[in-house]
Amino acid sequence: MASLPPPLYNDAMMKDFDHTNPTPIIDVELCNGCGLCVTACPHNALGMVDDKAVVVHPQACEYDGCCELICPMQAIDRPFLIILGET
Ligand code: SF4
Ligand code: SF4
Repeated sequence: MASLPPPLYNDAMMKDFDHTNPTPIIDVELCNGCGLCVTACPHNALGMVDDKAVVVHPQACEYDGCCELICPMQAIDRPFLIILGET
């Protein structure tokens, strides 16, 4: 039987995820501290802390994905919650 792929997000990564004001999840293990995402963020939501990218102003984040697109390490992800409903 084929084994399942590993989960994209573990509990530790999701613990602070806010469905009402989502912000990107940054994997500090993958982040190389280049700062490209900080420069690319049009809403100044990101900053560098100890040479790692951090969402320093979560309320400013518009979840547009510029940071995710520019990251050369694929360290940034934007999870989406799929809600099924009847029409
Ligand atoms: S662009 Fe990616 S690797 Fe560079 S600082 Fe941001 S999260 Fe880290
Ligand atoms: S999703 Fe957009 S607004 Fe939010 S941190 Fe990334 S670039 Fe900035």
